[in-house]
Amino acid sequence: MSMLELKNINTYYGNIHAVKNISLSINQGEIVTILGSNGAGKTTTLHTISGLLKPQSGEIIFDGQKIDRVPAHRITALGLAQSPEGRQIFANLSIKENLDMGAYLRKDTAEIKKDLDFVYNLFPKLLERRNQLAQTLSGGEQQMLAIARAYMSKPKLLLLDEPSLGIAPILVGTIFKAITEINQLGMTILLVEQNANLALKISHRAYVLTNGEITLQGASSELLSNPEIKKAYLGS
Ligand code: ATP
Repeated sequence: MSMLELKNINTYYGNIHAVKNISLSINQGEIVTILGSNGAGKTTTLHTISGLLKPQSGEIIFDGQKIDRVPAHRITALGLAQSPEGRQIFANLSIKENLDMGAYLRKDTAEIKKDLDFVYNLFPKLLERRNQLAQTLSGGEQQMLAIARAYMSKPKLLLLDEPSLGIAPILVGTIFKAITEINQLGMTILLVEQNANLALKISHRAYVLTNGEITLQGASSELLSNPEIKKAYLGS
């Protein structure tokens, strides 16, 4: 079953045509990667899906509903979360309070407790620092908090925008392992990443964006051995 479908989406910034007639789909339970170099239109695509930007034309269907004209906060309430969001984390709240904010639309107290234990288990640093203000975390720890907070809203679809960006290599593995574990619990994930090698290793399928257009798509395992991908994104 298709969790998300984009049909002929075009998004502009004024005269700049950043996303050009993109069509893509994500099935329930998948991790799908979007690859592309700087300025290819990856973030614009994510923001168009989450409603922060509105497409000039095309259609977006999320979980059976047309959402391309729906305001961002209502799309969130339908079960779509983006990390990091425009607002990032709440710097003046503790880590625990940030995670509670992630779950603020939920009422299933017992499940919330279970999910909190799950994210503390994924990221033990967050448990250790749970009463500290979020602004005292390192960049990498803030990235983990942003992912954990998005998870706490228990979205049907989680959009991750470059989760390894600015992260020390030693922590990148932790983040990718966490993404895999979150997916194994049944969450569908759309991943935008510069780290093509890791992203293709953990995802099921991928799309390649070039200058706002999809130029290549397929199973991640196949793209990993595709000579064009190797040359452009895998440094060989
Ligand atoms: P990166 O990997 O560098 O983050 P990206 O693939 O996410 O790149 P986008 O941020 O989606 O790329 O940008 C796509 C194009 O739209 C680029 O040419 C960029 O310069 C342009 N663009 C992005 N944001 C704006 C904006 N607010 N106003 C005008 N142009 C923009």
